[in-house]
Amino acid sequence: MPNWTDRPPVHTRQHAYSLFRTPAQGTISGIITSPTVLGCLTHFYRGRTIPCEGENCPACNDKRPPRYHAYVGLLGKKSREHALFELTGHAAAPLYDWIEAGKSLRGAALNAYRTRGGSNAPVTVQLSQMPGLEVVLPEPPDIQAALELIWGEARSLATNGDSHNAERA
Ligand SMILES: [Zn+2]
Repeated sequence: MPNWTDRPPVHTRQHAYSLFRTPAQGTISGIITSPTVLGCLTHFYRGRTIPCEGENCPACNDKRPPRYHAYVGLLGKKSREHALFELTGHAAAPLYDWIEAGKSLRGAALNAYRTRGGSNAPVTVQLSQMPGLEVVLPEPPDIQAALELIWGEARSLATNGDSHNAERA
């Protein structure tokens, strides 16, 4: 007998979000949909960004330094796409200042650009208050669940690639 419910199960409701980063040239602009920042240690490992797994992390075991990344939901100004936006912990400093001042990030306008240009140049973030927007914004993404979807494949490619290489070696 079918299991009828008034909404889909939680895991199928989570749609895939793209991951935005600050472009090498130009400015990324949008409205933040998350009330606060969520982040974790990541590695750039075997050509992919994967989360640091803590204990028994393959990238840590391979002596790759972890790097903190911070994430918020962002509604792109030009694209109108609701995505995750990634910053280094250092670049996210204005977001932490905002939160420490007791304000929610949801509804704040964000501009981010690279001071010198180039994909590894330092990122400057500007925030400004956009009163009233929070009521018309989409629900913020579940950052952790969205990242698990994004990282799932990268993680298995990095890890399985490892065992394949080990088999071949
Ligand atoms: Zn690690």
